[in-house]
Amino acid sequence: MTTEKSHLFYQSRQPRPFLERSEGIYHYDENGKRYIDGSSGAMVSNIGHSNPRVLEKMKAQMDRSTFGYRLHFRTHPSEDLAARVAARMPEGLDKVFFVSGGSEAVETAIKLARQYAVTQGEESRYKVISRLPSYHGATMGSLGVTGSPIFTGKFAPMFTEMPKVPAPTCYLDRDNLTEEERGIKYAEMLREKIEAEGPETVLAFLMEPVGGASTGALVAPDSYYTRVAEICEEYGILLIYDEVMTGAGRTGKFLAAEHWGIIPDIVAMSKGFGAGYAPLGAVVARHDIVETLLDAGGFLHGFTYAGNPLACAAGLAVLDEMEEQDLIGNAARMGDVLKARLTALMDRYPFIGDVRGKGLLLAFELVSDRETMKVLPKEWNAHVELVELAYERGLIIYSRRTRSGYEGDHFLVCPPLIVTEAQIDEIIAILTDALDAFAANHDL
Ligand code: PLP
Repeated sequence: MTTEKSHLFYQSRQPRPFLERSEGIYHYDENGKRYIDGSSGAMVSNIGHSNPRVLEKMKAQMDRSTFGYRLHFRTHPSEDLAARVAARMPEGLDKVFFVSGGSEAVETAIKLARQYAVTQGEESRYKVISRLPSYHGATMGSLGVTGSPIFTGKFAPMFTEMPKVPAPTCYLDRDNLTEEERGIKYAEMLREKIEAEGPETVLAFLMEPVGGASTGALVAPDSYYTRVAEICEEYGILLIYDEVMTGAGRTGKFLAAEHWGIIPDIVAMSKGFGAGYAPLGAVVARHDIVETLLDAGGFLHGFTYAGNPLACAAGLAVLDEMEEQDLIGNAARMGDVLKARLTALMDRYPFIGDVRGKGLLLAFELVSDRETMKVLPKEWNAHVELVELAYERGLIIYSRRTRSGYEGDHFLVCPPLIVTEAQIDEIIAILTDALDAFAANHDL
């Protein structure tokens, strides 16, 4: 149970029980205790755990071959998965590059954008503007675009810090603007940044369409998405959507971009795309971007495991499940139910300041004053305490205290897309119990 004798290390010492088995939305530990996976791990397990049809298809691929290097063979799973992904993409986005995770996807998207610019004779373009706060990965390249000093600070001399604009945290603004005006206000900050940096130096704008852990399921007003896309087009800047968390159905559409009819130039996906069955991600790019590079000699980039046939077979099986069970539709329907239930908790707990998100990418934020959105005292460590209170009671949720751009304790409640209404009742019952305990601990 403890980690003292373990040779394995992660970010910190975190004594947790051993995981014995998993099924559907549930995990069971070595002592037989059941946990609802109310965050799909880290917003990964979209189709639930141990799906027998997915395991069957993976086994079938294992029997055939688990690895064939891409320079030596094409493989059916990778070709088929690329075709299936392309068919789900907006018009024109039909070139797919497979990777093994979200950071690799972001790195690949950025390198693709840069090589395209160089091939076009635009060597001066290298800056990728992103947002503060944001999270785009843990590798050196993705740290440059990640707006989260807590993750990036110590490494600052080792990578190129890219320019940042504020994330559209409109729910914190106390001005007289309408929501739509606020969306425009934040989008126009991108224009100002481009002008300040020198438009000829700016390569791309990178954003999470619905925020993940960094902002806790932040959704901007509709006007933000359209105006940002217009600004990128106006300046000839590539628009990259980081859909590592939102992609593959979590927000109730295959891509979150579809909610606003936006067609980015490049999309990065991972997490729910492999859904925990295999380390898998994808970068999907505009046809002409990739063709231009291939005509000019190729895309200078690659990972050994890119297009691994077993990972791609898992991805295909996950996509089959999503389509056959209408899980994206279920994410939209159950997302509405869960959001309404979380919002109802605001009547009982005045210290819930905001509930937000789309589909089953949902979050609530704790505050000491809802009117001003003043944060809870830092020393309470609310983001740790409430997660532990829920964990003890058999519910896993995901939290963060953001320290960049704004400060606040937010909690992601993002069960697998297979979740039912009865299971949402279970989630809310345990969460209520945990929030009662939290309130009692602090006399709230
Ligand atoms: N981009 C976003 C939006 C993410 O949420 C994450 C992970 O949380 C990443 C990139 C990095 O993905 P990975 O941890 O798989 O490298």
